[in-house]
Amino acid sequence: MLRAMLTYIDGTFVEDEHATVNVRSRALNYGLGCFGGIRGYLSDDGEQVFVFRLDAHIERLEESAKILYMQLPGSQAEVCDIVLDLLRRNNVHEDIYVRPLVINNSNLLAPVLREEDSSFICYCMPLKRYIDKDAIDVCVSSWRRVRDNAIPSRTKPTGGYLNSALARREAMDNGFDEAIFLTEDGVVSEGSAEHVFLVRRGVVYSPPSTKDNLDGITRRSLIEMVTEDLGLSFVERDIGRTELYVADELFLCGTGAQVTPVRSVDRRLLGDGTVGPITAKIQSHFDDVVHGRVPHRNDWLTPVWG
Ligand code: PMP
Repeated sequence: MLRAMLTYIDGTFVEDEHATVNVRSRALNYGLGCFGGIRGYLSDDGEQVFVFRLDAHIERLEESAKILYMQLPGSQAEVCDIVLDLLRRNNVHEDIYVRPLVINNSNLLAPVLREEDSSFICYCMPLKRYIDKDAIDVCVSSWRRVRDNAIPSRTKPTGGYLNSALARREAMDNGFDEAIFLTEDGVVSEGSAEHVFLVRRGVVYSPPSTKDNLDGITRRSLIEMVTEDLGLSFVERDIGRTELYVADELFLCGTGAQVTPVRSVDRRLLGDGTVGPITAKIQSHFDDVVHGRVPHRNDWLTPVWG
């Protein structure tokens, strides 16, 4: 059972059950909001919780808010402090997921975006695995990724997740674990909540963030790790659908998914169906970084305690 948690809402910390919005809220009726998703990892000695790339997540949230005519309740540093305060008040000593949320909390009719209607909410929950499998079977969705110039997919817009939810539902109804979206132009965009990386002939590829996908923080971090720490070749370019089928290795990544190996795409087995060596190396290095075992990457970690 989930333990009772405190949630931050517009300047106060309240019990989860009291952190509610009105049924008339524009956020609920029209999907007017944007959010983040941040992870904290319990250190190996169990003494510390490291929040991964807190600054980058709050920076992206502010950018999402700006695009959607919303605003944060203070500077990026102040919002980072709210996140840390939340984790301390909840006495977090475990792997944790944090969800900061900016919503349009006006209860009036019509979808209207106004900075002054912004409410800031932040809650957290213990989280181990978002995808509870060692390797997954994915499909290419029949749903196209919503274009950045329709519902800005560079941001994490609340309403935009209808697109993700439709793709996930279709994937699951058809016996897959996850879906990969193509853009309206037919190139690989991203998963329902993850970015896509492909390995072919020793080179790592990922489509650019201009392909209607989120400005991803795990993706950005992995590109640095892959090139600088692991010395692998990385190329950012369009990826065609059929390249997915002939990849030697494929993995999805994200704050929730971390590094999740893909076993098959549209029932085409990749490699010999086991986790490939490059994916395994990246996955293990990512795990080391987020747990504070790679000293030169510790500036990506914000300790909650001490
Ligand atoms: N794409 C989408 C649509 C997502 O919701 C997420 C999860 N935040 C990602 C990609 C992964 O992004 P990040 O690494 O910043 O969590």
